Order: sequence, then C-alpha cells, then structure tokens
Amino acid sequence: MFLQIKAAFCGHKKEQSALELQLTEINDQEHHLMPELPEVETMVRGIRPVMDQAIILEVRACKCDRKPLSITPEQTEFFERVRKCRIEAVERLAKRIVLRLSSDDVIVFEPRMTGLVLVSDPPSIEHLRFEFRLSLKKSRHSVWIWDRRGLGTFRLFTQEEFENALGGSVLGPDALRITAEDLHCRLGKTQRSVKVAMLDQKLVAGVGNLYASEILHEAKIHPQTVAAKLSLKRVLRIHTAMNRILQEAITYEGSTLSDGTYRNALNHDGSYQNKHRVYAKEGTTCVSCEVSKVQRIVQSQRSTFFCPRCQRK
Ligand SMILES: [Zn+2]
Repeated sequence: MFLQIKAAFCGHKKEQSALELQLTEINDQEHHLMPELPEVETMVRGIRPVMDQAIILEVRACKCDRKPLSITPEQTEFFERVRKCRIEAVERLAKRIVLRLSSDDVIVFEPRMTGLVLVSDPPSIEHLRFEFRLSLKKSRHSVWIWDRRGLGTFRLFTQEEFENALGGSVLGPDALRITAEDLHCRLGKTQRSVKVAMLDQKLVAGVGNLYASEILHEAKIHPQTVAAKLSLKRVLRIHTAMNRILQEAITYEGSTLSDGTYRNALNHDGSYQNKHRVYAKEGTTCVSCEVSKVQRIVQSQRSTFFCPRCQRK
C-alpha cells in the first residue's frame, strides 16, 4: 500500500483508462449515485476509529493533475489552522462529514458525486487529493481524500460560520432524527409532490434520489402524491419506512451502483444495491406484489421508480 500511495507524489500523469472514459460518458443524472445518508454514515463509521481523538500532524496535498477540489479558506491557511489540532468528534451532518477540532474550528467535507475518505488503498492513485497525517495513541495513521471528478468540497469554519452555513435555518432535521409529527408538519406546507419534497434538504436532510424511491415504495405511497395532502397516518408510514430503509442501508454499508464510485473507507463496495426493490428496476416485476412492473417517471429532472399497483394514487 505504501509504495502504491507514494507513487501518487511522483507526478506521472496517467492515461485516462478506457473504463474511466466510459464512465464520464454516462449521464450523471440517471446513473451516478450521489452519496446519501447511508453512504456518508458508512464513511464516518469507517474513519472514526483512526480520526476520533487523533492529533492532526499535518494535512498535505497529493500531486494531482485533475480538477482541484474546492477548499475554503485557501489551502495554506486551511492546512496551517488545522495542524496540531485534536479531532474531538467525527460526525455526519446530512450528506457531509464533520470533524470538530480542539481549536473550535470545524472541518466539513462534502463528497458530492465522487468523493471518498479512505484508510486503505485508493481505487486509483491519480485521484488522491489530500492526506491527513494523524497521531492516535502513539501510532501514526493516514486518512486519504480521493475524488475522481473533483466535485467534493472542503471547508474550515469557525463555530459561528458553521452555524450560519449549515445550521437549522439552512438544513432541516436529519432523516434519522426527525419525528413523524415534524415530518407531517413540514410536508404539510408544500404543494410539491412527496418525492420531490423529500429531496429538499431544508425539509428533511439526508435523503436523496435513490432512497426516496425505495422509501416511498416501502411506505406504499405514490411518488406524485401532493405532500400537503398526506394524512398523518400516511406520513407515519413514510417515517417508519424511512427509518427502516436508511438503517438497513447503513447495515449493508450503502449502495455501490454499476459506476462503482462509492466505496467504504476500506475501499470496498457497499452491498445495499442487492436489496433495492425499485431503484433502476424499470420493467422488472415488483418484488412486493409480484404482479405489476416497476415504472420510471421523471420528477424535477430526476428519475423516480415505483410500482403502480403497490403505490396507488
Ligand atoms: Zn408492486
């Protein structure tokens, strides 16, 4: 592993592989999985054993010729401010990784499309971005930030900046913490369809396109139902399904789709993709009713998958 990673700093520009070219041609909207709550929770659980309570010896940039990640403040200040700080907590905030530092600063990493945090060999050397060199209980560790497309963002906030940027007025309650009553109240205020409303991070945080379809199928709610028209009883079904699906997906360490981008901190696939009931299963027989075919519709430019028999309007 060490030799492999060391090669990243030698600066050899590698040819784009055939597989990668093929991947860039795939339509993002339809085939790329944005890491959602279960994937980011899996990342957090994967790095916590080596990051929680560790001292950041240094952060350094890997030699990378690709589009750089967005980093705020600029790299030199960022690296200087976090150096020698203790990481006091490793948390997930919706679809972001949050590192709380002893200096009271907060690091926020948002993986977006293709960002990963790794404690092991990366999927490729040329997309390594940053190395966190850490000291924990007298041993040294490295955590690597990898991003194929460079859409991830790194931000360092003071507490006040953190609250302003990502506090309660910006981000709704976490999907695993919101109460059914609060969810009912929030859905009750919008005339959008329930599937579209569930993707609104101000309404409820952490659910994305993939899990929204799975949750509504489990809850037997048609995705085009107007959110404000849902009774408390039906929202209770959504709430129960949301908890069950997200928890189950965390247990299976998230979903790695055919693009293979999402990996856990050990660079292994998640396995929840094998449990999907409707997502990307257009035309297959619904596994619940075993009668109707799964259908695909487009809502707000995103695909929604559902069973017209199980999820009646
Ligand atoms: Zn069905």
